Amino acid sequence: MAEIVVVGSLNVDLALRAKRLPSPGETVRADALEIGPGGKGCNQAIAAARLGAHVRMVGWLGDDRFAEVPERALAEAGVDLAHLRRAPGTATGMAAIVVSDETGQNQIAVFPGANREVTPEQVRDAAEAFRASTVLLVQLELPLATVDAALDLARESGCTTILDPAPARELPDDLLRKVDVLTPNETEASLLCGHPVSDVESAAAAGSRLCERTGADVLVTLGAQGVVWVRATGFQHLPAPAVEAVDTTGAGDAFNGALAVALADREPLVRALGQALRAGSDSTRRPGAAASMPTQRDLKDPDA
Ligand code: ADP
Repeated sequence: MAEIVVVGSLNVDLALRAKRLPSPGETVRADALEIGPGGKGCNQAIAAARLGAHVRMVGWLGDDRFAEVPERALAEAGVDLAHLRRAPGTATGMAAIVVSDETGQNQIAVFPGANREVTPEQVRDAAEAFRASTVLLVQLELPLATVDAALDLARESGCTTILDPAPARELPDDLLRKVDVLTPNETEASLLCGHPVSDVESAAAAGSRLCERTGADVLVTLGAQGVVWVRATGFQHLPAPAVEAVDTTGAGDAFNGALAVALADREPLVRALGQALRAGSDSTRRPGAAASMPTQRDLKDPDA
């Protein structure tokens, strides 16, 4: 079985749908409310578990009633919660989202809550989860020192390390050199290499700069255009399966979760990429983030 440790954020997403977004100082009436799990760590753990992996989640919730939302979603997906903790006197991370029905645009404010309290020591307390895993999947919604500690522990434990450098921010070279597989989207690749990325050519240029800097395999995801895989010997563009996309939220999380599963199953990277592309694209056929993550069945028979 694929054994994966995910170190990452857990949020509750509070999403309101309104005809249009409010202007500053204005109140608008919302017509629907949805409360669901969120945070890149939570979404990617669910994505990997739905594809049949044994996923150990290392992360922190608050001690409020909102904590139950991501906790229940992870449990339903079969994620191992032995290393999930609750921070006393702290709120669970929350994203307040307003979506306009007219334009599909959104406004989002995120409060990191317990996610920003996760320390390197707390990650090291979960050493057993790393020793039992073959792949670490980590993102940037926790403090950077904590991400760094997770990468160190993964390397000591012989895990392959995947870093999804989201949300976009600059990163020190010594952290990047601990990464085996780096998965920026266009925005993150632009920020990390200082040049705009919008197509295969610019993605290959950014990827090769990042590859030189890190020694990692760099996978620049390009939405409907698929992915550009860059390594020391050259680059390859792999297109995404064409689908009728209804909501691309969480596509990157589906991609990363599926990639981790295939690598933990010891598939070669080119095959792992095929699975990641199928999962990313399939997730866009359904609304929501965690709720849209495909199962093994969805990927075998896309019309099921
Ligand atoms: P992020 O969600 O992190 O911005 P991307 O938008 O690059 O990431 O999407 C990740 C992957 O999801 C892509 O490589 C692709 O496989 C799939 N994907 C995203 N948007 C679409 C789309 N409109 N049509 C088909 N596949 C998509």
